[in-house]
Amino acid sequence: MIELNKKIWLSSPHMGGKEKDFVDDAFATNWIAPLGPNVNGFETDIASYLGEGVHVAVLSSGTAAIHLALILLGVQKDDEVICQSMTFSASANPIIYQGATPVFVDSEKDTWNISVDFLEEAIKGRIKKGKKPKAIIPVHLYGMPCQMNEILKMAAEYGIPVIEDAAEALGSEYFGKKAGTFGNISILSFNGNKIITTSGGGAIVSKNKDIVSSARFLATQARDSAPHYQHSQIGYNYRMSNICAGIGRGQMTVLNDRVKKRREIFFAYKERLQHYPGISFQAELNGMYSNRWLTTILLDKEQTPGAINNEKLRLALELDNIESRPLWKPMHMQPVFKDAPFYGNGTSDQLFNKGLCLPSGSNMTEEELERVIKKVLYLFS
Ligand SMILES: *Cc1c(COP(=O)(O)O)cnc(C)c1O
Repeated sequence: MIELNKKIWLSSPHMGGKEKDFVDDAFATNWIAPLGPNVNGFETDIASYLGEGVHVAVLSSGTAAIHLALILLGVQKDDEVICQSMTFSASANPIIYQGATPVFVDSEKDTWNISVDFLEEAIKGRIKKGKKPKAIIPVHLYGMPCQMNEILKMAAEYGIPVIEDAAEALGSEYFGKKAGTFGNISILSFNGNKIITTSGGGAIVSKNKDIVSSARFLATQARDSAPHYQHSQIGYNYRMSNICAGIGRGQMTVLNDRVKKRREIFFAYKERLQHYPGISFQAELNGMYSNRWLTTILLDKEQTPGAINNEKLRLALELDNIESRPLWKPMHMQPVFKDAPFYGNGTSDQLFNKGLCLPSGSNMTEEELERVIKKVLYLFS
């Protein structure tokens, strides 16, 4: 029997089947700890998936990965770090953990990611104030790669390291290379709603082996090599458990299927909705290949019949038990960051005002996708 009003989630965990085998193995061998064969295996799986000779340390969260990245780049109290404004707060919060100040940069119109022009304005502006930024954090929003060539060129020109926030972009590519391989340090997330999940978790990635081994050291309480507990640095408890890593190993076996499915969902939405006035999509420019983690649309109220805006559509979907969500509210608009410097012209404000994330989970059925599309079209008819 078809359940008419069954909840359709924005993006829910989607197990492949192998996860339990790896978790069972952890129980059978009693590796119920933040170390063990699944932890090592998951790191190897990710490194070989990403390629480019990267090294990987798996951690308790993507947020922990950004925090360790900042520490490893020497970010300290009163330093400044440039961060894409249009993102989830986890990209910026660790800057505050270090007692540093975030400097937010606006988005460009088509990819919604950090604007290279405003990035340069921010770098120049801060240097003029005698504060050369200690790092740049671009974010591949909803899986869409940033303009990495231009960003890396500028970062090299000014000698500023890049922390690539690829939390939403595992499986995305930029000119044939995987997202997560571009930063001096890159980070991934395996939170419950991401393209693959370990229930909660993250990873720090770098081509520099020393950075990744230092991350492992800091993530396990910075224990010096001695028979007793000896510490010459402040450490953290940020390592991933062998249980979670077992889920991750199973998820890696289906990652390519997940990317394929998310892209199919995006193209289904696009094909059916793009011809309606006032609806537009996040653009995949030359060289970009997005995992389309979430399909996101902009609604231009002035152009839609009956002045349909994102909130009207969200409420209509909610009435039918369909979860959708506004875009990330830019960090420069957040009360908690109201005093942070911002470079931009309001592009991300407008994206936030017009945008909506549609259900995009790889475990959605054809019928569920059809239900969402029909509901949107109903408003437009
Ligand atoms: C999810 C996410 C993070 C944080 O990852 P957690 O694993 O939830 O800590 C960081 N940045 C972005 C852009 C994210 O979407």
